[in-house]
Amino acid sequence: GKPPYDPANIFARILRGEIPCKRVAEDEHALAFHDIAPQAPVHVLVIPKGAYVSAADFHAEAPAEAIAGFWRMVGRVARELGLEEHGYRLLSNMGEDAGQEVGHFHVHLFGGRRLGRMVP
Ligand code: 5GP
Repeated sequence: GKPPYDPANIFARILRGEIPCKRVAEDEHALAFHDIAPQAPVHVLVIPKGAYVSAADFHAEAPAEAIAGFWRMVGRVARELGLEEHGYRLLSNMGEDAGQEVGHFHVHLFGGRRLGRMVP
């Protein structure tokens, strides 16, 4: 079965200000911050402020305004970091087989170099 949301997860702690992050942008719906172990010159994580484990939970349960706000934040980050001209990649790991490590829905944004062909 699907795991319950654990409010002690690391991104929940970042949202509560209990541990620091390198913030890129924030509004009432979402927070964007640099990944602690970047896999590209730009590697940003975007998270909604609500408590959702997975993309499926988020899109099924969050208010439409929160979903729109989240995706607008993804676009804002790409624009503000100058990634629109050359492009960038969005990725989200869902669950155990995909290697999801943090149980708070997040989208990775990679850019700043030519990215290889995506492979599973
Ligand atoms: P995923 O759950 O999609 O596999 O990846 C979680 C991501 O969170 C990883 O890329 C990892 O480097 C990042 N991460 C884990 N802990 C922290 C942290 O405390 N701060 C930040 N900024 N990133 C983290």
